[in-house]
Amino acid sequence: MKQLHERAHELLEQKAVSVIIGYGEGTEGRVRPVFIRTLEAVRLLVWDDRCRVNLAVYLNKPEIRKFGFPIAVVSTPATVRTIVQLIAEHQLSIGDVVVLVRENDTVRALIQKEDLEQYARNNPVIFPPFVIEEIELLKKMSIEERFTYWQEELAKCFKCYACRAACPLCYCEKCITDVNQPQWVCVAPHPVGVFEWHINRAMHLAGRCIECGSCTIACPVGIPIALLTIEATRVVKEEFAFTPGIDCNAPSALSTFRVDDKETFIR
Ligand code: SF4
Ligand code: SF4
Repeated sequence: MKQLHERAHELLEQKAVSVIIGYGEGTEGRVRPVFIRTLEAVRLLVWDDRCRVNLAVYLNKPEIRKFGFPIAVVSTPATVRTIVQLIAEHQLSIGDVVVLVRENDTVRALIQKEDLEQYARNNPVIFPPFVIEEIELLKKMSIEERFTYWQEELAKCFKCYACRAACPLCYCEKCITDVNQPQWVCVAPHPVGVFEWHINRAMHLAGRCIECGSCTIACPVGIPIALLTIEATRVVKEEFAFTPGIDCNAPSALSTFRVDDKETFIR
């Protein structure tokens, strides 16, 4: 923590960043995002095992962007991958973000492309064991059993869109589910509307999901919704040998055509 406070103090004192996005104490033992702009506020920053939510989501918010770049972000391996992916998708440029990561007992600031990519490649996202168990469980199910599983899970969804708000890769100014002329997705949280919304979201995140799990953490009714986007991204990885979040210049997997692409998924 001392290292983080020193580094944050230094960045603000030198006016090297406009704001530091980090974690602070919340309520009931939880952490919450904090936006540090003054030297006095640096002491509010905490950094421990509770700090899992992907703070890169705030890099897309106009309220934060108005402070101006560069912006510093306290980052987990998933956050670093997200920032690399956002650069690849032209939502950020190199130098916009000072990425603060823990390395051994020190806090390192990553800015350059090579440093970001190297850190992203060397530090894979590690899922909590229950996510891996759930994925394995689903893989063993028949298609009918899997459909029943999702029918039961999605019956709880009331379309609050917290999963979308928590996802740093859901950054469209106008989401397809909010378009009503024409209306592509049923607005009502009935079974059809809910399935349409989640299938659309999973397809939009296939090959882009960083597997941070923030959408699942955000869901107020405990739907493990990240499993859909994680699995969609794994399929893209297997079919096209593409991993998001490790190459700042990577093309978009699903909008790039190669003559040697496998087409076994077309039936
Ligand atoms: S879909 Fe969920 S797991 Fe994937 S990047 Fe977005 S918040 Fe993270
Ligand atoms: S956060 Fe949960 S309840 Fe809300 S829209 Fe997403 S899946 Fe549905």
